[in-house]
Amino acid sequence: MYYTRILKPFNLLMPQTIDEAISILAKYGNKAKILAGGTDLLVKMRQRVLTPGCVVSVNKIKGLNAIDGDPKGELRIGAATTMRSIESSRVVQDYYTVLHEAVCQIGTAQVRNMATIGGNLCNASPAADTAPPLISLGAEIKIVSAPGNRETTRLIPIEGFFAGPGKTILQSDEMLTEIRLKPIAKGTGCAFLKIGRLGVDISKVSAAACIRIVDGVCKVARISLGAVAPTPIRAKKAEITLEGKKICEDIVAEAGDAGAEEIRPVKDMRSTADYRREVSKVIVRRVIIRACQRAGVDV
Ligand SMILES: Cc1cc2nc3c(=O)[nH]c(=O)nc-3n(C[C@H](O)[C@H](O)[C@H](O)COP(=O)(O)OP(=O)(O)OC[C@H]3O[C@@H](n4cnc5c(N)ncnc54)[C@H](O)[C@@H]3O)c2cc1C
Repeated sequence: MYYTRILKPFNLLMPQTIDEAISILAKYGNKAKILAGGTDLLVKMRQRVLTPGCVVSVNKIKGLNAIDGDPKGELRIGAATTMRSIESSRVVQDYYTVLHEAVCQIGTAQVRNMATIGGNLCNASPAADTAPPLISLGAEIKIVSAPGNRETTRLIPIEGFFAGPGKTILQSDEMLTEIRLKPIAKGTGCAFLKIGRLGVDISKVSAAACIRIVDGVCKVARISLGAVAPTPIRAKKAEITLEGKKICEDIVAEAGDAGAEEIRPVKDMRSTADYRREVSKVIVRRVIIRACQRAGVDV
């Protein structure tokens, strides 16, 4: 890969409010790029994959890096919240373990100090580690745009956000401002697992599960996979295999196989498609077992 030390010249703008940021985006259109932690954007700018004429830093916008609300009502995570802040959040650790587990495994401490949750989602890598947990949690995201023909604020399920590798549904004058999490229902166990070359590496395959069990029977299963399709995906066949069934070893193995049927893996520098196919069965099985154990059921 070609890297250069010298970036192409660009205007750096540092808006203080969301309104100011989106009016800059509306003015510059495709020539502008939002800068949050820069751990993806600056790499792409150095590779000359992206050469924006205008870089809009969102780091001075108040409230965009805050975690607030109530896990018994609704928890809101600002788009510019760093992985380190999420990792240190007691609320996330205690109530949204699946997200906490994923964030703790992103890159190194230096990367987590800079990298933001909004950047991770908007970069739209199929391997983005916060995507499977947020999909399994049924998170919603808030998108804000400049006044015009459409709604200036929309709230959508995160599942509909990804459009392909490196692509989201965001228009050039829109920004992601917030991630919203609902309360976790009683009897739910959640878990995240990832396989990378090294502990700090981008995922070859990742999986998240949130499973609600009542009297040993699976009532709700939300299972998601990363790095095995053009976007992070829900493993719906695996969910159907579990729902309504008494949790046991055979059902969990069946769900693992069903999860791997839905993937569309590619061969890349990290892994072969065959490896991803085989490992998906194992990781789905393991993540279900861990989630069930956390819901109080041993498999
Ligand atoms: C050494 C290293 C290790 C890494 N390891 C991992 C890993 O293990 N797992 C993983 O998932 N990722 C990993 N990454 C990738 C990266 O750190 C994450 O994707 C990170 O969360 C990106 O966030 P950022 O704030 O740095 O985004 P930026 O680089 O600032 O932005 C990324 C993209 O999102 C857009 N954007 C940012 N914020 C918004 C917003 N609010 N609204 C609209 N668009 C926005 C930007 O314009 C840009 O296109 C690693 C990166 C490095 C360099």
